[in-house]
Amino acid sequence: MFDKILVANRGEIALRVIRAAREMGIQTVAVHSTADADAMHVRMADESVCIGPPPSTESYLSIPAIIAACEVTGAQAIHPGYGFLSENANFVQIVEDHDLTFIGPTAEHIRVMGDKITAKDTMKALGVPCVPGSDGGVPTLDEARRLGEEIGYPVIIKATAGGGGRGMKVAETAADMEKAFMTARSESKAAFGNDEVYIEKYLQKPRHIEIQVFGDGKGRAVHLGERDCSLQRRHQKVLEEAPGPCITEEERARIGKTCADAVAAINYTGAGTIEFLYEDGEFYFIEMNTRLQVEHPVTEAIFGVDLVQEQIRVAEGHPMSFMQEDLVINGHAIEVRINAEKLPDFAPRPGRITQFHAPGGLGVRIDSALYDGYTIPPYYDSLIGKLIVHGRDRNAALTRLNRALGELIVDGVDTTVPLFHALLQEPDIQSGNYNIHWLEKWLATNLQG
Ligand code: ADP
Repeated sequence: MFDKILVANRGEIALRVIRAAREMGIQTVAVHSTADADAMHVRMADESVCIGPPPSTESYLSIPAIIAACEVTGAQAIHPGYGFLSENANFVQIVEDHDLTFIGPTAEHIRVMGDKITAKDTMKALGVPCVPGSDGGVPTLDEARRLGEEIGYPVIIKATAGGGGRGMKVAETAADMEKAFMTARSESKAAFGNDEVYIEKYLQKPRHIEIQVFGDGKGRAVHLGERDCSLQRRHQKVLEEAPGPCITEEERARIGKTCADAVAAINYTGAGTIEFLYEDGEFYFIEMNTRLQVEHPVTEAIFGVDLVQEQIRVAEGHPMSFMQEDLVINGHAIEVRINAEKLPDFAPRPGRITQFHAPGGLGVRIDSALYDGYTIPPYYDSLIGKLIVHGRDRNAALTRLNRALGELIVDGVDTTVPLFHALLQEPDIQSGNYNIHWLEKWLATNLQG
C-alpha cells in the first residue's frame, strides 16, 4: 500500500488524481513551477514542492527535479496524469531505478506503443484490425509514390514519432505526394527530432472511436466500452461521448473483447486506450495511448468506476476491483473541453479569472482547477476545465449539458463555451450524425472571423 504519492502534473488532472488518492487515505505531494505557486493543485495537495521556473522543459518535464521531490517528501509512487512525462519510457525507467513506483504501464509497453509503426505491427499480430498502409517506415519519395498507387489515393503521411496531430499530411492525388511527403517529414523532424514517416489509406468519413482497456499486469484485462471523439478541430478533441451513438452492442462486445485480449496477451498494466477510426461498420487501429486520457470521465460516468483509484490499486499490486461481467453501461455521458481560447480562431487567452461559477445538480461533474481571482499562466495548455454530464440516455445528457452550460460562469477570459452553446443547436449534433470532418466544415461556414 502507498502512504504517499507524488502527482507529476498540474491543472485539472492533478486535482483529479489528488481527489482519488484522498478518498483512498493516501497523502499527496504536488509539484509546481514558479508560475503555478498559487495553483489549485498546490492548495489541494497535502504537500508541495517547487520544481523549477515556468517553462515546462525546466519544471514539469524535469526528471531530476521530480525524482528529487519524491526523495525529499518520501513519496513512494508517481502518478503522471496525461501529457508531460506520462508516455516517456525513459522517465519510467528512471523512476523504477530509484525504487519508486510509476502508476501506469511498464517502460517497455510505453516504448512499443510510442513508436507508431511498432505499435501497429504489434496490434496487427494480436489480431487488432489496422488501416491498410505501408509495412513500416517509408524512406524515399519514390517508395511513397509507389505505395500511393498501391494503396490508392487519398493517402495520409504520418510521423512515426507523432502525437498531438502534428506531422500528418494528406495527399489527395499522386500530384500532391511530393509536397505532402516532404512537409510531413520536415514537420516531424522539427516537432519530434525524427523524420521517419509512414503511409496509410486516408479514410474519408470515419468516426474516431476509442476503446478503454484496463489490465492488471498479470495477464488479466477488461474493456470499458468505447468513447466517440469524432468532434475534432485540427485533430484535437473538442467533445467526447460514451457510449458511441453509432456503435451497436454486438460491435462493442466484439471490438472490446479483441482489445481486452490483446492487452491481456502483453500483460499490460493499468489504463490504456486503443484508438480506432470507424467507417462503414469496420474498425481500423490508429494508435494506443498508454495513459489516462483527458476524456476518461465519460467512461467513469457510464460504468460507475473510478479509473484513477483503479490505476493506484493495480500499481500497488492488488487485483482489479471489477471483472468484465461487472461492467454494465448505465445511461449516456458527454464531456466538453473548456479552453481559454478566443473564437473564431481559437487563439489562447490566458489571463485573470474575475468570476467562476461551476454548474451543479444531478449528473453534472466539473473537473477544473479554476477559482475566482486565479490567473491562468501563459506557459501551458489552454484546457482550463471539463464539464461532464450524465443522463439516462443521450437526449437526457444533451438536455443536461445545455442546462449546465447555462449555469457555468467563466468571466475575465474568452473561452470555448459559446462554441458548445452553438453546437447544441445543430440537428447533426442532436442526432449524433457527425464524423471527424464535421466540426472543421461547420467552423468554416459558421465561425468565419
Ligand atoms: P496523433 O497521435 O498525432 O493524435 P493519430 O494517429 O491519433 O495521431 O491521428 C489523429 C487524428 O488524425 C485522427 O483522430 C483522425 O482525425 C486523423 N487521422 C489519422 N489517421 C487517419 C487516416 N488513416 N485516415 C483519416 N484520418 C486519419
